[in-house]
Amino acid sequence: MKSKIEKTDGNIVIVGAGLTGSMLALMLAQNGFKVDVYEKRGDVREYVPTKKRSLGMSLSNRGRKALRKANIFSKLEPTMASKHGRATHNASGGVKFQIYGDGGQTLSTVNRKNINSLLINEAIDTGLVNFHFNQRLSEIDLENHVITFRSSETQEENNVAYSYLFGADGANSNVREVLSENDILTSERKKLYHVYKEMTIPMGEDGDYVLDPKFVHIWSAPDTVFVALPSLDKSFISTIFYRNGEDGELKNVKTKEELDLYFEKHLPNLHKILPNLEEDFFGNPDSEIFEIKCSQWNYENRVLLIGDSAHAFAPFYAMGMNTCFEDCSVFMKTLEENGFDFGDAILEFANTRKKDVDAMQFLTNRNYHNLQFCKQPIFDLKWKLERKIWAAHPDLYMPEYCMVAFSEIPFSEVVEISEKNKELIEEIYSLYLEQIVNETPEIDMDLFVQIEEVRNILMSREAHREYQKVLL
Ligand SMILES: Cc1cc2nc3c(=O)[nH]c(=O)nc-3n(C[C@H](O)[C@H](O)[C@H](O)COP(=O)(O)OP(=O)(O)OC[C@H]3O[C@@H](n4cnc5c(N)ncnc54)[C@H](O)[C@@H]3O)c2cc1C
Repeated sequence: MKSKIEKTDGNIVIVGAGLTGSMLALMLAQNGFKVDVYEKRGDVREYVPTKKRSLGMSLSNRGRKALRKANIFSKLEPTMASKHGRATHNASGGVKFQIYGDGGQTLSTVNRKNINSLLINEAIDTGLVNFHFNQRLSEIDLENHVITFRSSETQEENNVAYSYLFGADGANSNVREVLSENDILTSERKKLYHVYKEMTIPMGEDGDYVLDPKFVHIWSAPDTVFVALPSLDKSFISTIFYRNGEDGELKNVKTKEELDLYFEKHLPNLHKILPNLEEDFFGNPDSEIFEIKCSQWNYENRVLLIGDSAHAFAPFYAMGMNTCFEDCSVFMKTLEENGFDFGDAILEFANTRKKDVDAMQFLTNRNYHNLQFCKQPIFDLKWKLERKIWAAHPDLYMPEYCMVAFSEIPFSEVVEISEKNKELIEEIYSLYLEQIVNETPEIDMDLFVQIEEVRNILMSREAHREYQKVLL
C-alpha cells in the first residue's frame, strides 16, 4: 500500500481533542499536513473545568521538549509556577525538603484547560486543522477505512473516509475497543484500588502562600497521599489519593466530625490549612484511576493508538501527560526519519515505543511507595546521597527521578540503570553509612561519595554513560 501522502490531500483523522490529540494535530499541521480532529465533548475552551479531572499538572522536561518543538513553550511559561523539589511533611509538623535535581532543574505546574486551549488555538491558527466538537465515534469500518461519528447535538451520523487514523481518545478509548472487538489486540483496563479527589489549599489571610511555593508538598497517612502543587494565584492545587472500598479508612468517613477526627489523627498540620475541607471533601466527586495495558497499538499501517488510549497510567510519577507529549515528539521524529511515509512511521512507532511506555508504567506503580515513604529519614538520606553521588560523579551517575523527569534516556533504560543504582546505594549504605547514621543522623555525605571505591564501583557498572549529555 502506498502510504506516503501528499501533504494536504490525505485524510488524517484524529479521534480526541485532549492533550495528545491536540498536540499531534498541531505538530502534523506544522509539517504541512491537513488534519481533522473529532471530539465527543464540547469545546474545552468554552467550559468551566470540572472537579472530576485534575486541574493542575506537573510538567517536566520531556513534556517541555514537545512544547518547545511545537513552538509554544514560551507562551505557556508565564502561566506556570516552578517547583525545585518536594517538601515531605510528617505528622509531628517536621518537613524535609528534597531537591529534585542538582538545584537547577524544576517542574512546572500547568493548568489542564490552559494548555489544552492553547494547543487547540495554535492548531487552528495553522489553517490546516479542523476541530469537530460534540462528535462521538460510533463505528469504524476498518476494511474500507471509514469512521462514523454521531453528533450529540443533532444525533446525525457522519461518515468520514480516512487514510490514517489516530486514536487519541484517552483511557476509555473507543478506537481501542473497536480494535479489540476485531481481535486485533487485547487490552487490560485495570481499576486501581485508590481513588482521588480534587482539594484546594487557598491563599493565606495575609494574601500570601501558606506553604513554600518552590516545592510540591506531600503528606501521607496509611493508604492516603495528599499532594499540593503551587499555583501562581498563591493557592495550592491539591489532590488526595486514598484507598477505595470497605477497608479504606477515609473512604468510610461520612460526617464532618469523622473527617475532622481523621485529619487530626493522621494529618494534623494539613488540617490547619484546609479551611474548605468539608466542602471539598464531601462536595467534590471521587474519581477512579485506570491503568491501560495493550498488546499492540496499531492496526496494519493505517490506525495507531497514541497517548492514554494506548497506555494510561496512574498519576503517581506525574508523567502521564509528559509521556503523551513525548509520544507526539517521538512519532513526529519517526515520521521525518521515514521520509513522511505515514504507514512506515506507524509500524515503526508501534514496534519501538511500547517497551519504553511499559517501563514508565512500571516505574509509576513503584513510585506510589516512594510517595508514601518519602517522609522517612532513611528515604531522605538515600535521596540526598544519590544527589551527592551525581554531583561528585556527573559522568557516571544520575538518580532515577532525574532520568525520568529531566533526561531523554528511554524509560526502558531508566529501569535497568535504576536497578543498578539501587544496588550501589545499598552497598554504600551498608559499607559506610548504616552504623554512622544510627549513631549520628547528621553526617557529611560528601566525605563518602568522594572516596575512590565509589568511583571504582561506578566505573565497573555496565550501565555507565555520559549522563550530562542526555539532560534535556
Ligand atoms: C489525578 C490526575 C493527575 C494527573 N497529573 C498529571 C501530572 O501532574 N503530570 C502528567 O504528566 N500527567 C498527569 N496526569 C495524566 C494526564 O492527565 C493524562 O496522561 C493526559 O490527560 C492524557 O491525555 P490524552 O489526550 O491521551 O487523553 P484525555 O485527556 O483523556 O483526552 C482524550 C479525549 O478524547 C475524547 N474522546 C474520548 N472518547 C471519544 C470518542 N468516542 N469520540 C470522540 N472523542 C472521544 C475525550 O473527550 C477527551 O477529550 C494526571 C492524571 C490524573 C487522573
